[in-house]
Amino acid sequence: MTRRRTSYRSLTSLQRDNARCRACADAGHRLESLPVFQGGPGQRAYILGQAPGAVEGEERRPWRGRAGRTLRRWLELDEESFYATFYCASMTRCYPGKAPSGRGDRTPTPEERRLCAFWREWELRLLRPRLLVPVGGLAIRALLGVPSLAECVGRRFDYGDAVAVPLPHPSGASGWLNDAANRERVAEAAALIRTELAAFSAFPPRSSAGSPP
Ligand code: SF4
Repeated sequence: MTRRRTSYRSLTSLQRDNARCRACADAGHRLESLPVFQGGPGQRAYILGQAPGAVEGEERRPWRGRAGRTLRRWLELDEESFYATFYCASMTRCYPGKAPSGRGDRTPTPEERRLCAFWREWELRLLRPRLLVPVGGLAIRALLGVPSLAECVGRRFDYGDAVAVPLPHPSGASGWLNDAANRERVAEAAALIRTELAAFSAFPPRSSAGSPP
């Protein structure tokens, strides 16, 4: 049963409610998994994807498939370091199923994204990350409002008192990564992320806020 409080004081209670969320199914949207996210208090890097895939939905763990392996290769992180470093969330947290065309996964509808933004907004309030990594066009537009990958991949953005470094989706489904200049942009973005991780690793976690989004 879906439960959303008007206020959360801890990430643990937020995650407990998020893990049971069926808001999209209640609104008539087709979902093919339960919610998928992973992380805990004190993590200062936050990665935001589009939606889990079939593998992630089955395992209920983010970035388990081929795209996750590509992402870790870009960041030069093994699995253990990746999950220890990043709180992993996505624009929508339930596997949306295959696209009607049969090619790739269904893109979450604006209504699903709106319903799921509640969880992201509270995560960011409670976690207060120092580094945000939006992955793919939907997440980049939601966090930064930048319409094109070429305009933002390889650049560092201020996001409140945090920084954001966007990446394209590592599935390569769009063909954007076929261009050598774009692959160079990805290398620059990955270097920026590694620099940010190295810089803030010297500082202690920030305390949680708990104010409403
Ligand atoms: S996608 Fe998000 S809002 Fe929709 S049911 Fe899953 S967790 Fe809830």
